[in-house]
Amino acid sequence: MDAEIIAIGSELLLGATIDTNSAYLAGHLAAAGVNLFRTSVVGDNVGRIAATISESLGRADLVICTGGLGPTLDDVTREAVALAFDRDLEFRQELLDQVAARFAAMNRPMSESNRRQAYVPARARAIENLRGTAPAFIVEDVRGTVIVLPGVPYEMRFLFESVVLPYLRDERGVTDVILVKTLHAVGLGESVIGELIADLMVASNPTVGISAKHARYELRIGARASSPVEAHSLVAAAEATIRERLGDHLTGDETLAEAVSRLLTSSQQTLSLYEGTSVAPIYRALSATTVGLDYVRGVIIHPLDRPTDEYAAAALAHAGAISAADRWRSDLGLAVQSASTPDERGFTAVSVALCFPNGSRHATRHYDLRQPEGWDFVGTLALDLLRRYLMGETE
Ligand code: ATP
Repeated sequence: MDAEIIAIGSELLLGATIDTNSAYLAGHLAAAGVNLFRTSVVGDNVGRIAATISESLGRADLVICTGGLGPTLDDVTREAVALAFDRDLEFRQELLDQVAARFAAMNRPMSESNRRQAYVPARARAIENLRGTAPAFIVEDVRGTVIVLPGVPYEMRFLFESVVLPYLRDERGVTDVILVKTLHAVGLGESVIGELIADLMVASNPTVGISAKHARYELRIGARASSPVEAHSLVAAAEATIRERLGDHLTGDETLAEAVSRLLTSSQQTLSLYEGTSVAPIYRALSATTVGLDYVRGVIIHPLDRPTDEYAAAALAHAGAISAADRWRSDLGLAVQSASTPDERGFTAVSVALCFPNGSRHATRHYDLRQPEGWDFVGTLALDLLRRYLMGETE
């Protein structure tokens, strides 16, 4: 089954509300084995909503709309769906009774405008909304099915899970499962990862995609199968290949910060940080997990040094790691220091250093720090140096 989603509401087009409904529906449709072709966002306009629905029905069997079912005059989804199906709206006494019962339960008077919510397109299947006042409905013709859900996210989610999923399974025979698993990688560029797993990335089942996220990489494996067991085995086979090819660049199910936190926890080692910049990239990277900072004894933020080149930056990072570890008597000291001026291409040398009881390690790279995201690469570099030490890797 192929589907499209239409999120309805002018506030979505104005950027005042973020369309989380489409993201939720996309994820849950995928998990239910429904192919999603496209998502659209349209304002509260009868003609434009009706046209969008008709276009979607020209491409997909199932269209799920959210929003615009409220009692006010700018809630026009009912009219728009009726127009798209060339049907009249019809009044349903049982819907008005449901809305009235809800107001009675809340001990509030129902206003006259709530009568609008008792109208649905002719021959539509109405769905009682046990979480709100706006009834949902399903309309079908030869082109396909349109399911209309309220815009309020928790009402929409409730109706999707309690009504739409059973409808898809029991009445539309949607039984495939799509299983998605995310793996995390660091220390390699996106293009290098892409080359290492190029064959997996062009395969159709399972599919493998990469996305770069704050200097770290997420590899998403998606498998479609007729049973969860079969989907698991397809994902496991792709995962094993990825693990073999990426080796220790893969942190697996864990993010880099989670891997470091686990390693610090299991080895019971304490850490202090020296940040030679007010951006504090190591602290920021570590605080991405709730337990990441549990083993941090202290942080020195000292943005005043102006090392002229990478050698001076490396020396200051090394000294900073030692002084932070000394200051708080921690097992490990981790430091970052950038050179004060970028080179002619705009790249700045950044050194990270790790000191431990019987030695030290460091790494120097060049990053474009004119973009704030550049510092995320620095945090990743430092945490990966620490991760490799904690895993017992030799330099
Ligand atoms: P109700 O009658 O219960 O208000 P409705 O179908 O009329 O439901 P809308 O009036 O369109 O829903 O939206 C109600 C609220 O739900 C909005 O103010 C917004 O906060 C939220 N909302 C609507 N659409 C979305 C969406 N696509 N993603 C996230 N939130 C949304």
